[in-house]
Amino acid sequence: MSSRSLKCKVCGTNRGMIHRYGLHICRRCFREHAPSIGFKKYS
Ligand SMILES: [Zn+2]
Repeated sequence: MSSRSLKCKVCGTNRGMIHRYGLHICRRCFREHAPSIGFKKYS
């Protein structure tokens, strides 16, 4: 209801956002940061 921050916390974009896993980063950053945050390769 209230405005939530929907921007990527890494690069600030609001496109291709991933809100799964409690993350708030975009797909692009996810792929780059996934290993460093404990996730395996994304698809
Ligand atoms: Zn990003």
